[in-house]
Amino acid sequence: MFIIFGTRGLKHTVKEGDTLYNSCPNCQQGNLVSKLYRRWFTLFFIPVIPLDVIDRFYECDKCSGAYNENVKSVLQHSKEDMEKEQQEAQRVYAIALIATMTHMSIIDGEFAPEEEREIMDNMAKFPQFETVLNETFTKVKNYGNKDNQVFSLLNDARNKLSSESLINLLAQAAVVLLADGKIEKEEENLMKEYLIACGLPKDMYYTLIEKLRARPLTEFGKEQMN
Ligand SMILES: [Zn+2]
Repeated sequence: MFIIFGTRGLKHTVKEGDTLYNSCPNCQQGNLVSKLYRRWFTLFFIPVIPLDVIDRFYECDKCSGAYNENVKSVLQHSKEDMEKEQQEAQRVYAIALIATMTHMSIIDGEFAPEEEREIMDNMAKFPQFETVLNETFTKVKNYGNKDNQVFSLLNDARNKLSSESLINLLAQAAVVLLADGKIEKEEENLMKEYLIACGLPKDMYYTLIEKLRARPLTEFGKEQMN
């Protein structure tokens, strides 16, 4: 008989965690609830033994905005500073998203028109960052991950964004991989490399795939940024 075992990351609400009431920077109304991703040892795909904590973050109970633990100190700042932080997080998110999507599109050696359209649609969601997104697109389209440029951007994003946002980002980018309907083994490996570049364990791949499958693709653009 086969014994199938592995590891995967699961999201939990922290029971004793502090809740930051009515303080979501995105919707201004929701409560930020303390959450974490924990790695579990699985047997036949069922989580049986809890392992290490991958990341702690806050999630809004109203708009699902996810924030890294820094949000707590950011909330003490003036409204202006908070908006600046929020803006910066969006910028980092948008750049990493376009870089990853473009890299995924060229990885098989051909750049399909549907892939380009998908990237342009995503760029259009961030008109305030048009110039830098165009530069990122051109650089990655021409040079791929040369000098680790794509992985470095993901690594930068790690400092600003929660694990939840990073996984949302990769799931949103992976839409270009699904253009042909299924995920090839090489594409799976690539996504695991992206996770590692984000400072996350590759076990988070399954969480990523669940996000990708759980909702209609058009909804990804509405994902909160932080
Ligand atoms: Zn919210």
